[in-house]
Order: sequence, then C-alpha cells, then structure tokens
Amino acid sequence: MLSSRHAIAFTGAGISAESGIPTFRGSGKDSLWSRFKPEELATPEAFERNPRRVWEWYVWRMNLIMKARPNAGHEALAKLEGLGIIKAVVTQNVDGLHQRAGSRRVVELHGSIWRVKCSNPACTFRAGIDEPPEEIPPRCPSCGHYLRPDVVWFGEPLPQDAWGEAVSLAKASDAVLVIGTSGAVYPAAYIPLIVKEGGGTVIEVNVAESSITPYADIFLKGRAGEVLPRLLNAVMEGFLK
Ligand SMILES: [Zn+2]
Repeated sequence: MLSSRHAIAFTGAGISAESGIPTFRGSGKDSLWSRFKPEELATPEAFERNPRRVWEWYVWRMNLIMKARPNAGHEALAKLEGLGIIKAVVTQNVDGLHQRAGSRRVVELHGSIWRVKCSNPACTFRAGIDEPPEEIPPRCPSCGHYLRPDVVWFGEPLPQDAWGEAVSLAKASDAVLVIGTSGAVYPAAYIPLIVKEGGGTVIEVNVAESSITPYADIFLKGRAGEVLPRLLNAVMEGFLK
C-alpha cells in the first residue's frame, strides 16, 4: 500500500452490512419487506406497475440508513484518503455511508438512494434529497411525471459518467483494496480486474472467499470494521518510520 503511487478502494454491500444495513442478497430480517425479492421491486417494470409500492420499500430502506452509522471500516477509508494513500472510493453501495464517514471522492456505480430523478425519459430533472419524500410517489416539479430513486435497477445500465470515472481511476491505479463484495455483479466487478490486468496489486478484505479471491494478491480475512483500522495503523506506523 505504502509503495503504491495510486491506490483506490472498491466496496460492496459487506461494509454496509456491518453498519446494520441489510444487503440485497442477505437473509431475511423480520420485516414486511423480507418477503419480497429485490428483483421484484428494484426494476423499472415494478415501478411502472406499482410506483407507490416501490417507493414504500425505498422509504423503509432510507429510514434504516438514516438510523445507521458509518463503521470503523468506512472511517479508516476516509482517513486513508486524507493521508493520500487512496485516491478514491469506487462503491456499489447506494447508502451514502462513505460520504458520511468523510470520504471526499466517492464514485457511486449504482447511484444513490439520496438522489431522485424523473421517470420520464424525455425529462432531465435530478435532485439530491436528505430524507424520504413526504408524499409518495413524489412528482417531478419540472414535468409532473413520477420521480424515482436515482439508483441502478436490475436490467439497467450503469450511469455513464460514474462508470467512465471508475474505469479511468482503475486504469491509473497500481493497487486496489477490495472490500465486502462478492465480485459477482458485473460490470462493476471489472474494476478490480482492470487494476490487476494493468499490473496492479489486488488486496481483498472479506469475511469469506469471493469471485475476486482467485486473482487477489493478498487476502485479508475478516470484517472491514476490524481489518481496515489495523491496515490504517500499519500504514501510519510506516509513515512514522
Ligand atoms: Zn420530469
């Protein structure tokens, strides 16, 4: 890490799960929504059929996220950025916990639950929100169609600007710290592969082996909230020597 000139972090649901945010793939919490499959709610078709129901699910998730706090893993990443060790966090998470922990350059490959956009393809309205909308489904102030969460749903392409930025960062990187991701969701999972193919080092932090483990140069088994603070300490000791 210390000898790298340009390192990035690549994060997935595992780091947020440690803050108590249920993952898409995680097993059932005892809520009404555990009976629904994300594939049945996080799709453009579901929104077209029943925008209110999809919004109810997002409001439930927003409330969970508002009650959650960034953990020691998020905080260590923000400090590594502050030290100049990592240049950015590329994340598949939509919860905004990296920003709340103090990370400044966060590339959100799957959008953000804290933004809305118009569901009318002809309308370009987009806005940030800091709490769930009072009335659902909310209406676009510009054209009157329904607003939807500005997240990537199943079957949708990634936002071009975020994807382009993530690919440039990966191509410029000689190390990537991969945290809490199964590496099974494409095209996002190409990001660590791009670093590897460019001759960079892949360091994985995970509670279990993943699709990334076979090509990881270093595998640190454990929770992000435990492993990343240790890594930060090791880096800081290296600095002081
Ligand atoms: Zn609109």
